[in-house]
Amino acid sequence: MRKIAIYGKGGIGKSTTTQNIVAGLVEMGKKIMVVGCDPKADSTRLLLGGLHQTTVLDTLREEGEDVDLDDVVKEGYGKVRCVESGGPEPGVGCAGRGIITSINLLEQLGAYDDKYALDYVFYDVLGDVVCGGFAMPMREGKAREIYIVVSGEMMAMYAANNICKGIVKFADSGGIRLGGLICNSRQVDNEEEMIKEFAKKLGTQMIYFVPREKMVQKAEINRKTVIDFEPGHVQADEYRALAGKIDRNETFVIPKPIDMEILENLLVEFGIV
Ligand code: ADP
Ligand code: MG
Repeated sequence: MRKIAIYGKGGIGKSTTTQNIVAGLVEMGKKIMVVGCDPKADSTRLLLGGLHQTTVLDTLREEGEDVDLDDVVKEGYGKVRCVESGGPEPGVGCAGRGIITSINLLEQLGAYDDKYALDYVFYDVLGDVVCGGFAMPMREGKAREIYIVVSGEMMAMYAANNICKGIVKFADSGGIRLGGLICNSRQVDNEEEMIKEFAKKLGTQMIYFVPREKMVQKAEINRKTVIDFEPGHVQADEYRALAGKIDRNETFVIPKPIDMEILENLLVEFGIV
């Protein structure tokens, strides 16, 4: 079972990209569980055809300790097992802690058991690594493999670099490795070349360049992945190609985060600023 966490700045396209990758892997016959680790609880919306109605934390609040796995796991597109960790009530408690609680509960309830024959577990994790909670999937080997969604925009690259710092921190204890950067295009000038160079500086690879495409949002409005909504579309093939790259990936590294100055120079060098 490969345990993969997808990190990246808020709004960069983690949930969309994750679910489209998952749909591509489903077509390859893989068995998959997706665990949303964002209080927004929209990590599985495109696989379920709507929002997951019962998050792990909501269920815990309502049912106490007496939770069944079926209460929190819903089957979606291609029999993908979908879980949303959920968040604390707004203004109360720490969202990061919620992730820890959720993953521990899933383990206790046997969500990772052999009987599900999972090939992949994907954790779709909110934003920057600013608190230990969001680093949770990286710790204790909960996720072994990280991909960072990034674009040619400064703040997205800044976040990616920070996430690399988090990976370095847990590389020894958790055994985690970076599998690469997924460039989700924002149509910035020289974006592909710059992110390739950024990846090289970090000691990793740009595993794929996902073009920006309106069909992604059209499918999203219809609560579907592109692969589900418009399987013949070119963008569906992009996601299939990305899924294939991840399935065949053998490049796993401990990244080398770069200095802010080097990051800024990169933006200047490629004519972004
Ligand atoms: P995150 O999970 O990182 O917060 P989302 O996956 O929710 O981000 O994506 C934010 C928005 O960007 C969504 O409306 C999504 O449809 C859109 N989006 C993501 N990737 C693409 C793309 N390649 N082309 C066009 N729109 C995209
Ligand atoms: Mg998201």
